[in-house]
Amino acid sequence: MKIRYDLKPAAQRRTAPFTPQGPLSFGQLRTDHMFLMDYADGGWRDPRIVPYGPFSLDPGAVVLHYSQEIFEGAKAFKHADGEIQAFRIDKNAERLNRSAPGVCMPTIPVEDQVQAILALLDVDRLWFPEQDGASLYIRPFMIGTQDSLGVKPSTRYLFCVFLSPSGPYYPKGFTEPIKLLISRRFHRAAPGGTGAIKTGGNYAASLRAGVAAHELGASQVLFLDTTDTWIEEAGAMNHFHVTRGGRLVIPTFTDTILRSVTSESVLALGAAALGVEAVQERIPLAAFLEGLKSGEIAEAGGFGTAAVVSPVGAYVFEDKSEVKVGAGGIGPHTRQVYDVVTGIQRGTRPAPAGWMFKVPRIA
Ligand SMILES: *Cc1c(COP(=O)(O)O)cnc(C)c1O
Repeated sequence: MKIRYDLKPAAQRRTAPFTPQGPLSFGQLRTDHMFLMDYADGGWRDPRIVPYGPFSLDPGAVVLHYSQEIFEGAKAFKHADGEIQAFRIDKNAERLNRSAPGVCMPTIPVEDQVQAILALLDVDRLWFPEQDGASLYIRPFMIGTQDSLGVKPSTRYLFCVFLSPSGPYYPKGFTEPIKLLISRRFHRAAPGGTGAIKTGGNYAASLRAGVAAHELGASQVLFLDTTDTWIEEAGAMNHFHVTRGGRLVIPTFTDTILRSVTSESVLALGAAALGVEAVQERIPLAAFLEGLKSGEIAEAGGFGTAAVVSPVGAYVFEDKSEVKVGAGGIGPHTRQVYDVVTGIQRGTRPAPAGWMFKVPRIA
């Protein structure tokens, strides 16, 4: 793929390393440029890197009415040698291509998506925040842009990638476990639906569950399947627990659970690296709660790109009753998994072959 560069004038671009004065929050900032590519007449055209900014859309664009949208989230890190390395972006590109047919959108060759991300990271490499534990968050997404009110797939699409310089997810260290609401009132995904694809509509539909969680002092919902029998996932992260016997269990991926790249990485690493055996099983809620009460389940948490690992200290129910996980703190296995995955990302531990994508110097 030949990318066209239409960069900001040098005087308007960042020319010195980015050294934020205070703590950077997640996802607020943008860099100087974005990647764009249009789909029309059955093909992708005009891949380009242009100044970051608003683009115009017809008010009748399909995405604005019927949510024809898919997205991804990944991160790049700066290693001790000063090189920027993106974590497993081929996995994100593959997942975008699995999401696309779920909402009747076109795919993009994995190598083109990877090239687009690396080229953008290269152009805006000075935006990497010089701060401990920082990253450049990568947000690829695709929208249906045809001006059409008929309920059918758009004939035109826009693919965009932008970057967000972000501080450490845990600015005070890996210390505070979160609380999850186990809800029987809200469900995230139904069999045969879109739960296993990364589409904005799933998030719109889960917003009110998130608000209900906050009202009960929880930060997210742990969703159950529609029969309230099985544990599925939280709205933006997969769920896991660790048994006293040292097994880390992630619910088996179904068509109502999104395949997290973080979960897949933990499953791929194996016991030698992690100190626990990571497996997938269907998890009945009743057995899970019994395990928490008996102490058989000692640790629990969530896996996702933003936090990598979110330790869970307690679960709350809609009747406000609560169940604690272990002593409510962060367990040793949870900490080790966090240390291993973030160590690989930041280059302080060796990465399995093909996991890190070094940003080439082209622009
Ligand atoms: C993105 C996402 C996750 C986390 O996936 P990662 O690839 O690890 O970031 C989990 N659940 C849902 C519903 C998601 O959209």
